[in-house]
Amino acid sequence: MSRIVYVNGEFLPEDEAKISVFDRGFLFADAIYEVSTVLQGKLVDNAAHLARLQRSVDALNMGLPCSLEEIEAIQLEMLKRNDINEGGLYLQVTRGAADRDFAFPKDSKPSLVMFTQSRPVIDTAAAQNGISVVTTPDIRWQRRDIKTVGLLPASMAKQTALDAGANDAWLVEDGFITEGTSNNAHIVTKDGVLLTRALSNKILHGITRKAVLALAEETGITVEERSFTPDEVSNAAEAFITSASMFVTPVVTFNGEPIVDGKPGKVAKRLRELYIAFALKSLK
Ligand code: PLP
Repeated sequence: MSRIVYVNGEFLPEDEAKISVFDRGFLFADAIYEVSTVLQGKLVDNAAHLARLQRSVDALNMGLPCSLEEIEAIQLEMLKRNDINEGGLYLQVTRGAADRDFAFPKDSKPSLVMFTQSRPVIDTAAAQNGISVVTTPDIRWQRRDIKTVGLLPASMAKQTALDAGANDAWLVEDGFITEGTSNNAHIVTKDGVLLTRALSNKILHGITRKAVLALAEETGITVEERSFTPDEVSNAAEAFITSASMFVTPVVTFNGEPIVDGKPGKVAKRLRELYIAFALKSLK
């Protein structure tokens, strides 16, 4: 069955959907995206994703083609039309089509595109067994807090990791881990402190990160927001990633070496359980 995708006001079979060659998302990566996870046919923590969408478009002085309420209504219609139970809903807003010029066009109409991806979220091998991570230099731009589709450096880092036999890369800048290719990076020290990089332009302000840190604090885990080095990861009691797609997923191997016994840690397991409960409560 072909998916139904949404493009600028129309719900269409995926092979009939079209976007202009002059769309600035295509020519300049002049576009913002969000990925909301779908559980039980509903959206997880979607209000937070829409708030970040607004923040991202505002940061680029880009408009939205319609209100956030209308965007959410289209999102919910997409879930229905695709009969999706578990997976993700991808949403992209671009500055729209205009003749190619570096200057922002004055009168382009933003494009809005959405598609669904059906896949398991809760019961995954990565959640069960953990993932392996290697470090690569962070060569991305300096506004990583804006969720743009300029993802080539992240894609290259992911491929470098896969070529090295790992599942993902943690990016390093000035001797410190910034984040994963498409996730936020966290460790638990041998003293039981959850370390995570503080919010800045250097990392994406993860929706899952925020929820998980609040859950950690509620359960009495000490959270310290500061940068940490690859050596601190190697000497940590645990490591894990957070993202809308992967929830909380343990990291068990770092640069080819097991973290402690190479098994998912108990803090990561507990936080995953708590986050799943939170996600189920947030469904819309
Ligand atoms: N960091 C980067 C670079 C990402 O691309 C993502 C998600 O795509 C995240 C962090 C995690 O953010 P969220 O929890 O909002 O999915």
